Amino acid sequence: MNIVLFGPPGVGKGTQGVRLAERFSIVHLAMGDLLRKAVKDKSELGVQARSYMDAGKLVPDDVVIGMIEERIISKDVSNGFLLDGFPRNVAQATALNAMLLKHELNIDHVIFMEAEETCLIERLSGRLICKGCGFGFHRQYSPPEKDGCCDRCGSELYQRDDDRKDVIEKRLKVYLKETQPLLDFYSDLDVFSKVDATKSMGEVFHTLEKSVQG
Ligand code: AMP
Repeated sequence: MNIVLFGPPGVGKGTQGVRLAERFSIVHLAMGDLLRKAVKDKSELGVQARSYMDAGKLVPDDVVIGMIEERIISKDVSNGFLLDGFPRNVAQATALNAMLLKHELNIDHVIFMEAEETCLIERLSGRLICKGCGFGFHRQYSPPEKDGCCDRCGSELYQRDDDRKDVIEKRLKVYLKETQPLLDFYSDLDVFSKVDATKSMGEVFHTLEKSVQG
């Protein structure tokens, strides 16, 4: 099964994407995580991507399209994938359609997660991520049991550089201009559904699970 999860930054794509992928035994492919790994490894692509990410801008299409194609055709992804943060504009969505056709793959569900801006800002500014396993927490809404420590693997938690107020504002602007038009691109498809992401984590997960099960 292959799923595309999209929506504004802070809507919970990462948090829910990890759980949903686990639930349906598919691989969670988060574009932001792939890019952050490339930055950390100081690969050529990572060096190219860094300045865009720090500024809250989109990394050039040719970079992200190449990275995602390499992953979706990998052996470990043969049971299916959940794309989180890709595509993020119409050019990437068009490229995704072309690569799916080329590799004889389909998208079974395109799910749009929606929440208003005040909620997104609150979520992003309180967000904490595990350095080890990437699991997400929130200072108020889902704090770790032990301060600064991941409940799952015990590694240290950190705040992302681009979860600063000025960068958050930029990312939300980029979302409106670049990513929101994907609603027109996908909303007429039979596989499309929309989920209210302002509810509790458990409720949102339940609705997502139902959308996938049909
Ligand atoms: P995320 O972890 O999804 O919030 O992504 C963090 C940052 O990575 C974004 O602000 C962009 O700079 C970059 N990024 C993630 N996904 C994409 C994409 N599909 N296209 C271009 N840039 C991306």
